[in-house]
Amino acid sequence: MRFALDAGHAGFGVTPGKRVPDGSMYEWDFNSAVIEKLSVKLLTCKGVSILRIDDPKGRIDVPLLERTDKANDWKADVYYSQHANAFGSGGFNEARGIETFVYTSRSPKAVSLAEAIQRNIIEATGLSNRGVKTANFAVLRHSRMTAILQEGGFMTNREEAKLLKVNSYRETIAQAVFNAFVSHFKLESTAEIPIIADKPKEETGSIIIEDFIQFGDKGNEVKAIQNQLLKSGFGLPKFGADGKFGSETLSAVKAFQKTFRLTVDGIVGPETKVKLNEASKKDQSKAIVPYPGQLIRLGFRGKNVERIQRAVGVTPDGIFGPKTEAAIKDYQKRQGLEVDGIVGPITWNRMF
Ligand SMILES: [Zn+2]
Repeated sequence: MRFALDAGHAGFGVTPGKRVPDGSMYEWDFNSAVIEKLSVKLLTCKGVSILRIDDPKGRIDVPLLERTDKANDWKADVYYSQHANAFGSGGFNEARGIETFVYTSRSPKAVSLAEAIQRNIIEATGLSNRGVKTANFAVLRHSRMTAILQEGGFMTNREEAKLLKVNSYRETIAQAVFNAFVSHFKLESTAEIPIIADKPKEETGSIIIEDFIQFGDKGNEVKAIQNQLLKSGFGLPKFGADGKFGSETLSAVKAFQKTFRLTVDGIVGPETKVKLNEASKKDQSKAIVPYPGQLIRLGFRGKNVERIQRAVGVTPDGIFGPKTEAAIKDYQKRQGLEVDGIVGPITWNRMF
């Protein structure tokens, strides 16, 4: 089997615009890392050869026709192109999830492989499923073999951009794609690498990517999540951290997701875990800030408004607008305080 592997674009700013909006990562960095990991895995399989058709150093944006010519001339059986998604006109936004593309002809071989890849990635990451789609992309149009273009998350979504930069997330994507190749083409891997079970360890210890936790689950992981919810200010008044994911935990998770603008599905997947980690740690290390001595309300500006915004999960711009007011009301409701959207001494002291 011959796999032509393509990390989309080039790095180092060579391809204009293909980056996280804040400039913290080029799309190629993600694409290339996944392709590298996938290459290593594929080369453990009997009878598999690979050809990398982008510039592996990321310095040249190899023209698309040149990429497909290389794959065609080499008589590849599969063309796999890795990308990260973007939406909108340059800023961060809410578009999210995983999608996998085949050419508009919908060749049955390509569709079934794309479906396996899509399914594996969704299972491994817990991210939103945008499905298998068709597109008239040049690399799909000009390649004469089964061709797939995979979009492994949105650079323009703050949460997903964070994941795209994490080594273990890249490993998860590579493993999911590899597993799809193995089952689809009945490949035989000679190395002792896990093909089904995939629980990569995170080096920094701050993000753990594993199965998602949801309603009905029990055990220490549930308890850990409940403790993080409590530390982040999301109450579990009836049952506390009892290790059982019941309806009280479900509503707390949903409230948490709403506050942090995540998909409100009540399932603790990678994105929610990242936020829970952050939010609960932030709370522990928070310095006690004395009440500034005046009611803080709609129309106010400044450092204290920023502090409040951080506490309630609103983008801290220091301007107390209607969004901040709504978030404060949510917070007050969760905390069992009087719900007026104004930060007085009681709300302030609960927050800080
Ligand atoms: Zn791309």
